[in-house]
Amino acid sequence: MTARPHWLFGDQLGPHFLDPRHGGPDPQAPVVMIEARSVLRRRRFHRAKAHLVLSAMRHRAAELGDRVRYVRAETYTEGLERARGRRRDALTVCHPTSRAALEFVRTLDGVEVLAAKGFLVPHEEFARWAGRHGGRGLRQEGFYRWVRELRGLLMDDGEPAGGRWNLDRDNREPPPRGATTLDIEDPWRPSEDAIDDEVRHDLDRWERAGEVSFVGRDGPRLFPATRREALAALRRFIAHRLADFGRYEDAMLAADPVLSHSLLSAPLNLGLLDPAECVRRAERAWREGAAPLNSVEGFVRQIAGWREYVWQLYWHFGEDYRSRNALEHHAPLPDWFLDLDAEAVTARCLSTVLAQVRDTGWTHHIPRLMVLGSRALQDGWDPAAVTDWFHRCFVDGYDWVMLPNVVGMSQYADGGLMTSKPYTSGGAYINKMSDLCGPCAYRPAERTGERACPYTTGYWAFLHRNRARLGGNPRTAQAVRGLDRLTDLPDLLAHADRRKDAAP
Ligand SMILES: Cc1cc2nc3c(=O)[nH]c(=O)nc-3n(C[C@H](O)[C@H](O)[C@H](O)COP(=O)(O)OP(=O)(O)OC[C@H]3O[C@@H](n4cnc5c(N)ncnc54)[C@H](O)[C@@H]3O)c2cc1C
Ligand code: SF4
Repeated sequence: MTARPHWLFGDQLGPHFLDPRHGGPDPQAPVVMIEARSVLRRRRFHRAKAHLVLSAMRHRAAELGDRVRYVRAETYTEGLERARGRRRDALTVCHPTSRAALEFVRTLDGVEVLAAKGFLVPHEEFARWAGRHGGRGLRQEGFYRWVRELRGLLMDDGEPAGGRWNLDRDNREPPPRGATTLDIEDPWRPSEDAIDDEVRHDLDRWERAGEVSFVGRDGPRLFPATRREALAALRRFIAHRLADFGRYEDAMLAADPVLSHSLLSAPLNLGLLDPAECVRRAERAWREGAAPLNSVEGFVRQIAGWREYVWQLYWHFGEDYRSRNALEHHAPLPDWFLDLDAEAVTARCLSTVLAQVRDTGWTHHIPRLMVLGSRALQDGWDPAAVTDWFHRCFVDGYDWVMLPNVVGMSQYADGGLMTSKPYTSGGAYINKMSDLCGPCAYRPAERTGERACPYTTGYWAFLHRNRARLGGNPRTAQAVRGLDRLTDLPDLLAHADRRKDAAP
């Protein structure tokens, strides 16, 4: 039997997607790749993201040489017609990562959808776990422990290595006092090549012709576009940065946006790295004494816990999850936010983080959650629009990873399906975890008046607005009771109302 051609999506670029084992494509299957321009037209993506995805696809095609048919087309349908020819050759494709793409490939005659790759747990195994644990709501901690047992990750004789499952308590330190950067080796960064030049030229041309429009600034490519580059980034992180990952995982420094984070989300989500190899290498570093357990457990938790959980929930919750709006937030996103206009913003934390997004398409999880997401939550912005913004503006943003992270974790729009409480805070948390407040025009402890911190005012106004719902939640009830101690609550609410249409 001749091998059926195999279609690779742009986020299925690592060698494991062509591995015939574990339900993969036919051995030596010819490969089809389609660069569909309509994808870039549909949304106003960050320029760096468009660059990274096109660069990674074209690099993969160059590696595959004669084995690949690389079609540049207007749409996937047109590209497929050209790739399959009049005979409509049978084709295989690995389970795509979005519902829209899955529906599309399922409607095509002669296309067989193979198992998903690039995750640790098959959907069926997750479904069995969820069936056993869904009664009182699914929670990441239980899922994560189950994955560690299932995959034997950081386990010794059936017990968690070091005796504890969760080392979060060791992983919440503020940045070192007085430091402007962490004193560790820089992360790996790529050098651009001729393929990047070609991508940049194409994007400039399409933009000039008015065919596409981007947000964010163009700059040197900052994330891996090939398997070789992704492995170099992983190796450098494990050898030089993992040891410090845990302690400062939640810290923020204005002049050091990356701190000890791995910067591996983009290559993981492009499929250039497999999560199993990332967690195995981290575990080996601990067993060889090269990194402490709190850092390694923290990193394994991010990948085998959060990343895997988010992937499973995307499929588990169903299509209507994207339109959830439990808190009935309908405000549109302001222009300064849509345009990543950091200069329009006075609040130093938000301005700093918005500039990071504008310049790189990336920030770590705390700025995403506690600065960007928290602003949207406190100001009642429409969660679907917030999700779309994150999807477009982040180099690692894809439908599957955005929906649970934004609708669930960051905007609490699912009413608590994913997390047990909304994540938001006043300025005190940002002040404790960063060096951002010092030179800010606002003061984190002030709730009213000219110097009132928008996060502090916004936090109390948010609790007040949702008093009924959050007062009955054991995790937020105490915070809600704090409202009763605020003698200036009427002033605070009036202040919040006055400033709601201006950039903070
Ligand atoms: C509002 C919001 C939006 C987010 N959007 C995305 C997104 O579009 N794409 C994305 O990959 N991550 C997203 N995250 C999760 C997390 O912020 C990023 O994965 C992380 O900041 C990427 O940087 P890093 O690779 O240095 O991560 P590290 O801090 O080094 O963590 C290691 C890895 O863990 C994984 N990870 C950790 N947390 C998550 C999570 N919640 N969901 C998925 N993977 C996780 C990532 O693959 C990451 O590379 C979002 C989080 C929030 C709160
Ligand atoms: S004072 Fe408030 S607005 Fe200013 S940096 Fe701190 S948290 Fe942000």
